[in-house]
Amino acid sequence: MPEQPLLEVKGLSKSFGGIRAVDDLNLSVQDGEFIGLIGPNGAGKTTVFNLLSGTIKPTAGHIAVGGERLEGQGAEEFAARGVARTFQNIRLFKHLTVFENVLAGMHGTSDRQLWRNLVQGRLFRTQEERLRERAAELLETFGLSRHADELSVHLSYGDQRRLEIVRALATFPKLLLLDEPAAGMNPAEGRQLVELLGQIKRTQKLTFVLIEHDMEVVMELCDRIRVLDYGKSLFEGTPEEVRRSPAVREAYLGGE
Ligand code: ATP
Repeated sequence: MPEQPLLEVKGLSKSFGGIRAVDDLNLSVQDGEFIGLIGPNGAGKTTVFNLLSGTIKPTAGHIAVGGERLEGQGAEEFAARGVARTFQNIRLFKHLTVFENVLAGMHGTSDRQLWRNLVQGRLFRTQEERLRERAAELLETFGLSRHADELSVHLSYGDQRRLEIVRALATFPKLLLLDEPAAGMNPAEGRQLVELLGQIKRTQKLTFVLIEHDMEVVMELCDRIRVLDYGKSLFEGTPEEVRRSPAVREAYLGGE
């Protein structure tokens, strides 16, 4: 019997007035997969992330995480089931330090009891230590340790982007939605990020969905790529299949 997917989306639609931003999307993601979500500007990618993280509610359709139906629930419920995300536009707490930003991210942890304790200021010393250790480890992995006590507003752009990912990872997610993590990075920073994400993919039991316009990044990291166009699913395949698809070239790559 096939394994139950970590994420299962059926007939998912979202309309804004007359605009059908997401139109009857079906998507199944297994544990440990790295899925790319691509498509031209306005194709509906960010709307899909908003739906998958409970930021907005669907007009129609089902979203199940770990077999549990969540459509209609809010962002807290999605986070509590292990869904974390980053945003296209960086959303850090600018006047908290780098370390505090990561701890703040832990308020969205998928560990419900831990989250309640955090919010109610009832953390046991061991739990607090565990969180601080996790935060320190993540900052180390992403090369941000030396900035731990600086205000996040003082970080370089590339470091702020990395901190966004650290903050999402700090929630102990099962499913991480990355919205253009390499946007605005210089080529060296972009390369470094791809290597880091590749390393996380190899070493941690984590499932990713990635929106990214840089096709090299998508092709290198993703096991499967879904192509959206005008809210509809246009194609799904391996990076190689996507590269060879005439329909994708036509819609997305400008028929090169
Ligand atoms: P990009 O690559 O430019 O970020 P995208 O693929 O992420 O684009 P979305 O941002 O999801 O696309 O937008 C899909 C469509 O839905 C667009 O036509 C957009 O204008 C519309 N849209 C998105 N959010 C809203 C909203 N809150 N209100 C009205 N229309 C919206």
